[in-house]
Amino acid sequence: MKKGKLVIVSGPSGSGKSTVTKIVKDRLNIPLSISATTRQPRVGEVDGKDYYFLTTEEFENKIKNDEFYEYANVHGNYYGTLKKVVEDNLDKGLNVILEIDVQGALIAKEKKKDAVLVFFKTENMEILENRLRNRKTDSEEVIKTRLENALKELEYQPKYDYTIINVDIEKSCEKLINIINE
Ligand code: 5GP
Repeated sequence: MKKGKLVIVSGPSGSGKSTVTKIVKDRLNIPLSISATTRQPRVGEVDGKDYYFLTTEEFENKIKNDEFYEYANVHGNYYGTLKKVVEDNLDKGLNVILEIDVQGALIAKEKKKDAVLVFFKTENMEILENRLRNRKTDSEEVIKTRLENALKELEYQPKYDYTIINVDIEKSCEKLINIINE
């Protein structure tokens, strides 16, 4: 059976990658891939739906047991994709979209050379900052860390196969769908 395609989406927090990825997954019937994290749930987030929320000890046990396809420390917390989530779906011939940070993306690309890397960004840093503030989900300190990290993340852009400058959600969805179907 033909294996599915692994598409990895990254980009600074606030670039709109989650919104676009969610719409595209719904439209193409791509299964959700729920990551594990040690960060605290935000208001409204549900364990097993948004993330598997783990303690540091639980996460580190999974690292020891080699359960992760990739994992990284992002903004001071662990985030990781479980092997099962990726391998089972690809084996079934289903496409998989992972929305993960730049470090995890490069680990995954190393494992699967034909993975397609897509980088999301805004037109400039001012727009990014406004988006982070307007969503009102994070404290001032968290916003500051995320903006600092955005600059570091942008340095990874040349390693990606495609870049989507997310100005219009619908146009970005079309671009991502074209990349997946290519
Ligand atoms: P947030 O806390 O806003 O949900 O996510 C913060 C960052 O962690 C985002 O850049 C997101 O793409 C990344 N992230 C989410 N899940 C994973 C994962 O499984 N692995 C890695 N490496 N990064 C992830």
